[in-house]
Amino acid sequence: MNYYYKQKLFGDLVSVLKGMVGFHQTFEKWMEEAGLNITDTQFKKLTQYVDLLKKKNEELNLTSITDPKEVWIKHILDSLITVPFFKIKPGMKVMDVGTGGGLPGIPLAIMFPSVQFVLIDSTQKKITAVEEFVKELGLKNVACIATRAETIAHHPSHRDQYDLVLTRAVAPLRVLIELTVPLIHLYGNAIAYKGPEYISELSQSQNAIIKLKSEPPRVYQYSLPEGMGNRTIIQITKKHVTPDVYPRREGIPNKRPL
Ligand code: SAM
Repeated sequence: MNYYYKQKLFGDLVSVLKGMVGFHQTFEKWMEEAGLNITDTQFKKLTQYVDLLKKKNEELNLTSITDPKEVWIKHILDSLITVPFFKIKPGMKVMDVGTGGGLPGIPLAIMFPSVQFVLIDSTQKKITAVEEFVKELGLKNVACIATRAETIAHHPSHRDQYDLVLTRAVAPLRVLIELTVPLIHLYGNAIAYKGPEYISELSQSQNAIIKLKSEPPRVYQYSLPEGMGNRTIIQITKKHVTPDVYPRREGIPNKRPL
């Protein structure tokens, strides 16, 4: 390699490293604004997860977002800056239904090592990929299961067991209510990550709310930095025992929503 190319390569490397240092500080600031402190080790693990997701996405369709900055803001930051709305405490049991490539479960598990996470998805290939990520990242607080919410919600070791059940980009709200409320214990919360268009989903959910005997949802709105869009968190607290018939058998909640 001649002198010119060696110098250019060195220059490129320095600007990439400078960019990463700058981004680390910006990300820390966004997290601070959400009341979260991130350690260097946690930032490194999030970076490692972004790399693993990008690599696996070449063979498996885990996300349509590929631009690195968008992945950081629309996936990683979005998974985390919502925490002040639903509060995660040490010792909690949290399920992520329809985790896909591990969102929001993996970023949350990196940030909250003393919270137990169960990540489920109906696609075996996705769960196998997420299991690989968990192993590579050395996360001891995550279990992964390939199953449908309709099935696992009737299993005694999962029904009525969770403090929080999270869903992100999985189904319309009225379907999510049927899938997730049976999994949370009394006074636990179902949390749906939604886009800005939540009003019609809310109005279509009245019947599901009545049938599942849940409380009216609370809505929190927030914006992603750098103009990357508005988002909504919908929170439903369980205050009554869920009738045994819910969720109905596999596929029915989607095919014939309440
Ligand atoms: N939550 C991830 C995210 O935010 O990127 C993945 C979203 S992806 C669009 C929806 C995922 O939900 C898919 O991986 C799909 O297999 C899963 N899914 C849909 N219905 C499900 C169900 N009833 N039980 C479990 N997983 C389900």
